[in-house]
Amino acid sequence: MEDVDVVVVGAGVVGLAVARALAMAGREVMVLEAAEGIGTETSSRNSEVIHAGIYYPAGSLMAKHCVAGKQALYAYCDERGVPYSRCTKLIVATSEDEAGRLASIQARAAANGVPDLTLLSRAEAQAMEPALACTAALLSPSTGIIDSHAFMVSLQGDAENAGAICVFHAPVLGGRLTDAGAEIDVGGADPVTLRARLLVNSAGLHAPKLAARLAGMPSQLTPRAYYAKGSYFSLTGAKNPFSRLIYPVPVAGGLGTHLTIDLGGQARFGPDVEWVDEIDYEVDPARCEGFYAAIRRYWPGLPDNALMPGYSGIRPKIVPPAVASQDFCIQGPAAHGQACLINLFGIESPGLTASLSVAAAVAELAA
Ligand SMILES: Cc1cc2nc3c(=O)[nH]c(=O)nc-3n(C[C@H](O)[C@H](O)[C@H](O)COP(=O)(O)OP(=O)(O)OC[C@H]3O[C@@H](n4cnc5c(N)ncnc54)[C@H](O)[C@@H]3O)c2cc1C
Repeated sequence: MEDVDVVVVGAGVVGLAVARALAMAGREVMVLEAAEGIGTETSSRNSEVIHAGIYYPAGSLMAKHCVAGKQALYAYCDERGVPYSRCTKLIVATSEDEAGRLASIQARAAANGVPDLTLLSRAEAQAMEPALACTAALLSPSTGIIDSHAFMVSLQGDAENAGAICVFHAPVLGGRLTDAGAEIDVGGADPVTLRARLLVNSAGLHAPKLAARLAGMPSQLTPRAYYAKGSYFSLTGAKNPFSRLIYPVPVAGGLGTHLTIDLGGQARFGPDVEWVDEIDYEVDPARCEGFYAAIRRYWPGLPDNALMPGYSGIRPKIVPPAVASQDFCIQGPAAHGQACLINLFGIESPGLTASLSVAAAVAELAA
């Protein structure tokens, strides 16, 4: 059996950030990825937004790692030339009732360490975005967008420069947690069993399933996986009149039908929320019916038939639909009693923004 120091399962943005952090801390790291390349699942099926850290409950891991991760990410992008834009975001109220809720959003953001939101009148918001209909708005100056693939390529490069190895077509089937380390069964064309001093389970949507296949992992601490699919619709029948991200005031259970833009200025709407049992990324064109009315509340000029099915992503939930929100779960030896295992469960949005901070937390646990 081949011995390795650290095995990271999954080459999404979080696994790559973890591999980078551990390799740069002097550990010998092997990344095992089932797919043919980096970032083929959730990490390439998201909004590519650098979130400010506004909505999460104060004291949550999401709030902490989003705010710290955002700062680290902007600094990293500057240092490495990863394309991004600090395009900013408006949270828009379209009724007096919604306008009354902006102050509590601003207060929650401040409690999370995001004190820079400013309240705008209708005239001030419309001076920034003339196509916008609103009664008032909040401006988030630290929200941005990033080329997430370029970011992942850069993380992979850093990890490999620090000695890490990325192996593709290498699905981890399961294993055993022992006092001598984690024995890891790897499938693919050349099945092999490895022994690692530390196994980091960063398998995204599949992390709970992988944990359940590790003998020695307490089953009561392995969460059940739930999938909340989010579909996007692209604006193709009209020119995008906005230069900022536009979010309605959040609705119960979600952020509402918002507009994000990519670095080329192309607009898309979504993601919506659809709980599914299987991983299936097909976008049902019928889901766009509800989008028109929701978008026209803040953009009355949206023409008929301007939306086309785009793409979808699936949120790696570890709580069922009835539970309003979840937090990241970074589960180390103190929680499950196995010195050779760190599980990353439920790393949904803002996982891209938070990735460098989550990686630093894993490196600290590993040390
Ligand atoms: C619709 C949507 C929108 C989002 N928008 C944003 C946003 O705008 N901003 C933001 O900050 N965050 C956003 N997120 C969250 C962000 O995309 C995720 O938190 C992040 O991509 C998670 O990365 P990951 O590496 O944990 O998972 P993944 O990218 O899913 O990577 C996991 C990897 O593990 C591999 N794998 C799985 N099982 C095995 C196995 N047994 N053996 C080997 N390999 C395996 C998979 O092939 C995959 O490559 C969004 C998420 C969704 C779903």
